[in-house]
Amino acid sequence: RTVYVNGEYLPEDQAMVSVFDRGFLMADAVYEVVSVLDGKLLDFAGHMARLTRSLDALSMDDPLTEDEYLEAHRQLVQRNGITDGLIYLQVSRGNPGDRDFVYPPKGTRPTVVMFTQAKPGLADAPAAKTGWQIISIEDLRWGRRDIKTVQLLYPSMAKMEAKARGADDAWLVEDGKVTEGTSNNAYIVKDGRIITRELSHDILHGITRAAVLRFAREAQMQVEERSFTLAEAQAADEAFVTSASSFVMPVVGIDGTPVGSGAVGPVATRLREIYLEESRKTAI
Ligand code: PMP
Repeated sequence: RTVYVNGEYLPEDQAMVSVFDRGFLMADAVYEVVSVLDGKLLDFAGHMARLTRSLDALSMDDPLTEDEYLEAHRQLVQRNGITDGLIYLQVSRGNPGDRDFVYPPKGTRPTVVMFTQAKPGLADAPAAKTGWQIISIEDLRWGRRDIKTVQLLYPSMAKMEAKARGADDAWLVEDGKVTEGTSNNAYIVKDGRIITRELSHDILHGITRAAVLRFAREAQMQVEERSFTLAEAQAADEAFVTSASSFVMPVVGIDGTPVGSGAVGPVATRLREIYLEESRKTAI
C-alpha cells in the first residue's frame, strides 16, 4: 500500500512517525473514516466538518485545507486502486520534543497520517441480510465521546468481549440507557417510529446518523431522538446501527433475546437501501 504521511506518499513500510508523537504516547489524536464506493468518497464534507470540530475541541491546529484533504483522499484511492473500501485519516498533535503532559508550543506541526483499506463488495456485506447479534456492556469511556479521538481501547475491549461470546458487536450502556455501539450509533424501531439517542457529549455525532435521519424524515418516517433502555430495545420491533463503514446494519438479537421476529426487518432494510442510493448520488 501507498500511505500518506505529512504531505508525502510512501510505501507503507517506509512511512515513519516519531516515538514521541503525542498520538502514540497519549492518544492525543483525532481521526475520521470515509468510505469509498465505486472509487468515490461518501459524505466527505460531513466527515471534514466533524474533523474540524474535533480539532477545535482539542485546540489542535488543522494543518491542511479541505481541498488538500480531498486531494490526498483522491490520490490514495487512485494510487491504491481502491474501488470499494475505507480511507483512514488521523491528525495527532505531533511533538518534536520529549514526553510531557504539557502540549508542545503553539505552531508545532501536527502529524497527518492517511491510509486505505480495500473492502471489495463493501456495500453488499452478507451480514446486512442476516443481521448482527449484540451484547450489552457497561459504558466506561470518558465523558467527551463527541470528540472523535483515537482512545479506542475500551471500545476494542468491548468488541473482543462480544466476539468471545459469539456476538458481532456490543452496545454500551450508561445509567441504564444505551449510549451507542463500539463504533456505530444505535437505533430501535417501535410502532413505525425510529428511536435513537439525542446528540450530546455522550455519543459520537455520526455522519451516517445525520444522513440516515435526514433521509428517514424526507421519506415521512417518524424519528424520535431520545435515549432508550436495553429492555426497550429487546422489546422493539427492529434494531440497527449506522456507521461510515457498515452504513445501516440490522441488529437481530440483544444479549440472546431476539429483536422483533429475530430476522432483519423492513425499516432497517429500507433505510440501508435509501442511504446507499442517496449517498452514492452525492459521492465525490
Ligand atoms: N459512534 C462511535 C463510537 C463510532 O466510533 C462511530 C464510527 N466512527 C460512530 C458512532 C458512527 O459514526 P459515522 O457514522 O460518522 O461513521
